[in-house]
Amino acid sequence: MRGLVLCLVLMTMSVSVSNTRNTDRPLNPENKLFIITLDGFRWEELFNGADSSLINNPEFNTDTLLAKALYWDDDPGQRRSKLMPFFWSVIAKQGELYGNRKYQNNVNVANPYALSYPGYSELLTGSVDYSIWKNEKKKNGNKNILDELNQTSTYAGKVAAFTSWELFPYILDKEEKGSFVLNSGLQKIEEKNLSAAQSMINSIQQKISDKHVPTRYDELTYVACKEYILKNKPSVVFLSFSGTDNAGHNKRYDQYLQEANNADRMIGELWRLVQSISDYEGRATFLITTDHGRGKKGNWYDHGFFVSGSSQTWYALLGNKVVPHGEMKTKTQVYQKDLNALIPEILSRK
Ligand SMILES: [Zn+2]
Repeated sequence: MRGLVLCLVLMTMSVSVSNTRNTDRPLNPENKLFIITLDGFRWEELFNGADSSLINNPEFNTDTLLAKALYWDDDPGQRRSKLMPFFWSVIAKQGELYGNRKYQNNVNVANPYALSYPGYSELLTGSVDYSIWKNEKKKNGNKNILDELNQTSTYAGKVAAFTSWELFPYILDKEEKGSFVLNSGLQKIEEKNLSAAQSMINSIQQKISDKHVPTRYDELTYVACKEYILKNKPSVVFLSFSGTDNAGHNKRYDQYLQEANNADRMIGELWRLVQSISDYEGRATFLITTDHGRGKKGNWYDHGFFVSGSSQTWYALLGNKVVPHGEMKTKTQVYQKDLNALIPEILSRK
């Protein structure tokens, strides 16, 4: 009840905009940025690999032996590499990983709700709007960084977003034509001269569109994004995966691990792809994060205001001018909204 009262107090508070955006330095047109999110993927699995109590629990796995064959190793270092090979073989050596609470390297969402819409809103607007407290098809109303970048002369027409979840047109207030490109949920890909892969995505999505699912398969989102990159070479890309959160809510731990492993593979593939394209080679940065955490042990599958642990997140950086510190082990506290200020900072690097 106390929680409910606090919830109501927060909702009636006015919008608090704590925007620390760095707009002093000019944006550098040569820089490219990929902001990638894995919905509700816990820092626990990122830094420790599969959890022994969860992967051994038949309640959460269709086949615990198979799940363990795929994702278990008694050695914690090997275990996390097995789950997220790209993170631990490339990012940990060439980039930075924040959020391992074992070292008090803490990353949290600043919004109290620890749900998807508030989390993505915090990341993309750089502020906590206490009136945004649930996942609903309602216009955000706050300025977001993708739109702002698309309005600069440096990145006009060079911003694109691909998301598995269908709520992003609302989170990003995406109504006006002429703003940045957004392809979300089961939206048809509207482009001239569709590639074979783009036509295939449209026809698959048409076949499943009568099921009214709020998210599409991450693979489709990824291929839609990749095709757009190959054809249009955007400078700022937002790519948002949903598979981990869906599996979590379905209480399928084996599938949750598989979705994370799959996202790791797609991110690695995208990294190799952009390094092979001259427009991006040596100029691209990946900022990878999540929109919220999840509960601990017994309620790992859930998240939100009343679920302890849900505000705990993580982020990773790889690419242009990112110092290869690897796994960060210093005591620190970063909030999701702070990552928003990082975006123009990365894009203004010389
Ligand atoms: Zn979420």
